Amino acid sequence: MKPIELSFEFFPPKTQDGMDKLRATRAQLALLKPKFVSVTFGAGGSTQQGTLDTVLDIAKEGVEAAPHLSCIGSSKESLRAILARYRSHGIRHIVALRGDLPSGMGEVGELRYASELVAFIREETGDAFHIEVAAYPEYHPQARSPRHDLEAFARKVKAGADSAITQYFFNADAYFRFVDDARKLGVDVPIVPGIMPITNYSQLMRFSEMCGAEVPRWIAKRLESYGDDRESIRAFGLDVVADLCRRLADADAPGLHFYTLNNAAATAAICERIGG
Ligand code: FAD
Repeated sequence: MKPIELSFEFFPPKTQDGMDKLRATRAQLALLKPKFVSVTFGAGGSTQQGTLDTVLDIAKEGVEAAPHLSCIGSSKESLRAILARYRSHGIRHIVALRGDLPSGMGEVGELRYASELVAFIREETGDAFHIEVAAYPEYHPQARSPRHDLEAFARKVKAGADSAITQYFFNADAYFRFVDDARKLGVDVPIVPGIMPITNYSQLMRFSEMCGAEVPRWIAKRLESYGDDRESIRAFGLDVVADLCRRLADADAPGLHFYTLNNAAATAAICERIGG
């Protein structure tokens, strides 16, 4: 398999135990020499301090760390303050998102879409940040139509995004088609596939339902049939996701971004299998 750049996504832990576990995860995954790692951000303030703390902890280890930043439910003033904080800490890489409002939170905020956040970051900070945006090979669940979603993606790039990371998928053709269609719209930035390791059937089905990613029937049926047999789920999941990664790498995908869920084992096993 061709060598491919790796990046890893973490979420900010809420407890000391979680922090310790994440440090161990990072230490294990650092051996794979990721290009960068990213840290998610809770819309509406739930994990905002946690994102900064985690990013600073990672940066101390000499690894490039990119905080995610979402605009929904936020004022321009608060976004400006967060950007200033990141800059003052030497952060130069950011993942710009709309985010989702937590249930019960009604205020959309001053910026409605990620394209507006990207434009805002560029207006406020010029070229201070490398900006990543999200892309959806199987389309965002709220999109009016596939075409509309593709155009919304192109708008984010036009507004100043430097590269994109996709929602996870298990059907490589959806990604290849999406990239072709984006290129036809003049999008020329790298579109890095997001990879979800498979370790848990019910969690995977729940996440996929929420974010609009398709778990093909043959994969769902096999996983379901293993019941509580975690070892079989792990082994099958490793086969499926490693094959997907190999296909993507062989087709010159510009990198692989792993949704680690703060666990090293499944991601490390896939990277080892594909020779990363
Ligand atoms: P947008 O690009 O703004 O798109 C959202 C929807 O609006 C789409 O349906 C799009 O078609 C539509 N749209 C866009 N522009 C317009 C317009 N002008 N008019 C009408 N419709 C429009 N969530 C978090 O809360 N925290 C995170 O850290 C986080 N990290 C993520 C990382 C990645 C790589 C990905 C793929 C997703 C992540 N998410 C995160 C989830 C993301 O916030 C949700 O998917 C959210 O619903 C959409 O965010 P977006 O940036 O893609 O939004």
